Amino acid sequence: MTTRIILAGPRGRMGSEAIKMIQATKEFSLIACLDREATAANESKINEIAGENIPLYEQTDVCFQETEADVFIDLTVPDAGYIHTKEALSHGIAAVVGTSGFSDKQLEELSQLATKQQTGCIIAPNFALGAVLMMHFSKMAAKYFPDVEIIEKHHDQKLDAPSGTAKKTVEVIKENRAKKMQGHPHEYESEKGARGANMDGIHLHSMRLPGLVAHQEVVFGSNAELLTIKHDSFHRESFMQGLKLAVEKVLDTDGLVYGLEHVMEL
Ligand code: NAP
Repeated sequence: MTTRIILAGPRGRMGSEAIKMIQATKEFSLIACLDREATAANESKINEIAGENIPLYEQTDVCFQETEADVFIDLTVPDAGYIHTKEALSHGIAAVVGTSGFSDKQLEELSQLATKQQTGCIIAPNFALGAVLMMHFSKMAAKYFPDVEIIEKHHDQKLDAPSGTAKKTVEVIKENRAKKMQGHPHEYESEKGARGANMDGIHLHSMRLPGLVAHQEVVFGSNAELLTIKHDSFHRESFMQGLKLAVEKVLDTDGLVYGLEHVMEL
């Protein structure tokens, strides 16, 4: 069976990788793209990446009415992504969302809509399978190693720090880590920020440099041993295996699933 896909954000860095992934997957078919500027120039850019003519739509409702899709993928920005996803679910089309930054209220609304429509929706802030495994392994290690610090490194155009993945790592570690005051009880910073951010007693250090993409090390310390769990994304291609998995799983999903770990059967 072929999975018919509509993609929003096809000219973006993630979107163009997604086109290549869809075109390389014989069970997937890209039937349309949603673009905020459906100009002839943009259409030809997308057709060049896809290697064939893909209908381009500007109006979300028209796109969903005129096409017959199984899955909608959003790789845009939070406000537009929320509207697109709401519209897809309203049309009974399963949604896979990589766009990050939805508010809790938006997530709750999408969850209610997906449940009401009995339609699958997978929202994953990180599609890199290795990053999801890094968090999972960190959670396992935290049971035995309560002393932990996180170093995350990203390209210098990233606005927020610490990264969402670093914050999520702290959340999952907390599920298994005994509460502990780390470091010397009287430690102090002679230069402000030297010890990084502190989330629930876990220190997070953020590095921003050109040349980096998305990298994280979770370092656990104990008596005479150190355990480092490290993940590197070198290119946006690293997110495509997880995106493909989400598209495959979403048609068997009922309601909203937040996070790829829930479909990875860990
Ligand atoms: P990008 O290169 O900036 O691409 C964003 C795309 O969204 C562009 O095509 C842009 O079109 C389009 N867009 C912007 N505003 C829009 C609007 N109001 N309506 C419709 N389309 C709009 O960004 P990216 O790196 O591809 O990332 C895309 C999204 O994925 C972001 O939310 C990012 O945080 C997220 N992301 C997720 C993962 C993951 O694993 N889940 C990994 C990396 C990134 P214009 O060119 O016209 O502006």
